[in-house]
Amino acid sequence: MSNRASIVEELLQEIPQLRPQMYFKTSLTALSHAMEDQVLAGSDCPLVIASFQQARFYRQEAHRYQRIANITQQVYVLSAEGAGFSSCSEFYETIAFEEADALTQEWHLVVLGDQYSACLICRERQPAPTDPRAPGALTLEQTRRFEGIWTLDLQVSQQAAEILLRRILEYRPDLTNKVEQARTQFLQTDLSEICPGLGGSDPFAQRLVTYVQAGQYKLLKAYKAISAQERRERLVNSITSAIRRSLNPSEIFKIAVQELGQALQVCRCLIYRCKAEDITIQIQHEYLTQAVSSLVGQIWPLQDNPLFQRVLLQPETIAIDDTLTEGSPYEADLKGLEALIGSWKIHSWLMAPLIYQDRLLGIIELHHCQPEPHIWSENDKALVEAIAAQLSVAIIQAEAYANLEELNRQLAALDRTRSNLIAITGHELRTPLSTIQVCLESLSSEPDMPSELRQVMLSSALADAERMRKLVQDFLILSRLESGRIEWNLEALSLWECAELALSSVKAKHVDKSLPQIAIQIPPDTPLVRADGEWLVEVLAKLLDNACKFTPAAGEITISVARAAKKQLQVTVADTGRGIEPNRLEAVFDRFYQEEGALRRTTGGTGLGLAICRQIIAGLGGQIWADSEGKDKGSQFHFLLPLAENRQGTRSQAGRSRKTARSSRKTRRSQPDNLVLE
Ligand code: ADP
Repeated sequence: MSNRASIVEELLQEIPQLRPQMYFKTSLTALSHAMEDQVLAGSDCPLVIASFQQARFYRQEAHRYQRIANITQQVYVLSAEGAGFSSCSEFYETIAFEEADALTQEWHLVVLGDQYSACLICRERQPAPTDPRAPGALTLEQTRRFEGIWTLDLQVSQQAAEILLRRILEYRPDLTNKVEQARTQFLQTDLSEICPGLGGSDPFAQRLVTYVQAGQYKLLKAYKAISAQERRERLVNSITSAIRRSLNPSEIFKIAVQELGQALQVCRCLIYRCKAEDITIQIQHEYLTQAVSSLVGQIWPLQDNPLFQRVLLQPETIAIDDTLTEGSPYEADLKGLEALIGSWKIHSWLMAPLIYQDRLLGIIELHHCQPEPHIWSENDKALVEAIAAQLSVAIIQAEAYANLEELNRQLAALDRTRSNLIAITGHELRTPLSTIQVCLESLSSEPDMPSELRQVMLSSALADAERMRKLVQDFLILSRLESGRIEWNLEALSLWECAELALSSVKAKHVDKSLPQIAIQIPPDTPLVRADGEWLVEVLAKLLDNACKFTPAAGEITISVARAAKKQLQVTVADTGRGIEPNRLEAVFDRFYQEEGALRRTTGGTGLGLAICRQIIAGLGGQIWADSEGKDKGSQFHFLLPLAENRQGTRSQAGRSRKTARSSRKTRRSQPDNLVLE
């Protein structure tokens, strides 16, 4: 037999004047125990009908019913069948109802005696399964809630007993006689004439119930607060441990956005880094629920976003429950955001800044996109603010780490420099110093030295002093470049003019020597490059100087340019000289690399020139490398430089350059495209 009807509903239909109330489970337990105790303590032999939702609830009370059965014959206990509970007539009548019966959701106790009557007829209220605010505590027994009637009123108790007895007979027709006997003994009042003045409970008992209920309500609130606090702590902990595991803000944001979005059950959660002066940012980290469109990859406005501007002025959380209703304090701001709100269906909006010492580091945004607005609670705001504080620390920590790494890099460079200095003092400086010393000693100890020899001595001392000076000078330049202490004066420059300056400096240096033919092949329409003129001329001069050193007078040297990808210009200094072995093409850029070794050097030089060139070109945002087919097959040194933005180069434009200006004034009219010198 299947009976799904609710006893609560039946009772309310039969006595429409009844007003059901909400009871916590603890209150019902107290009330039902009080009713059972009344039976156990009294001298009546009452009718007792108890209905438990499940056998496990019944089992907790079974011993009391055995004691009650010693007092009265008319005891009926109902429960869902199974788990050791079945219909039988042992100490008292047990009635096992089906799982499908509405009784599985209800809790009833009716006591009808000569001097005493009470009834408790209640149905459990299920918590909304998707209620985002349902804390973990709702699963606790204490927080279960029931809706129904508790009263000492005789007529209501009789009516409830009658409905229950009818249900009992549907399951246990064999009890017809016993039930009839109960009806005669306890339900003689004409039930159709129940007076409307209900609620005949003792006022004292009513008040007691109210107190129990109020106490329970406070308890529930405390559970909720504890649970919210616990949720907050769990979330903050998981983000803190992510911060501990990684120093990469991107990884931390990835975790935080998911955790926060899930914890607050929002439609969309965004976390992004930004600065006060940013115009827009690109969204990278997002949590989304289904059916909400993603913002990842989208350009998100900041400068034109009045809410963002408001956060900048007053760095506090902004929580807007309903972006569509007029009259909110943010109404004027939201007017300017209508398009954004419409496209991304932002119905409720929360924006919390990530701040560290008054500096804006980023933003957390939460969006609700359902048709109904969402009311942001104080708890929501507190949670987002706690996460924002953690993320700010993570960003600062990551920045500090990056700075530390940079400092370490600089320290390592300084340390290398220091070691090199020692190496130079040991090997490079000692040789010329000894020569100078020997020459000077001889000159002073041999006053009668022939004047030719004296001249030779003086010349070698001077030559070695000059070599030492160059070495120290190059070494100091390299040290400055390596430690990153150079301030680059970047401007739009004409390569032709820089090449021309470099060439005159090389020519001046080798005035007493016949040089190979040098051609500057830079067309007049070559775009300008963005570089520091002084340093660029230095690189070209060093490359030309090397080419001259390692190319016989009969050879050729060219400086040419070509457009390269990524808005860069490739400059090449090529020669037909002694070339470089393929396996030495990288090594030539090492400090103090010299193919023949310092002592056997005939060409001069410090071995620092190419190392300096590499540092300069890297500092200007380019790259430098060497090519050669091998020994005696010539070499090509290429480097890339960024083009000056939106400017097509002409030689006259390079007049902007400080140094090149002078030369361009002198040479603009007279120089051909290809400058060929001997
Ligand atoms: P150096 O003062 O010795 O020229 P660099 O750093 O300028 O120092 O060059 C390092 C070494 O690279 C040179 O000693 C030489 O062996 C090799 N090298 C540089 N330029 C050329 C070139 N154009 N042709 C052949 N070898 C070169």
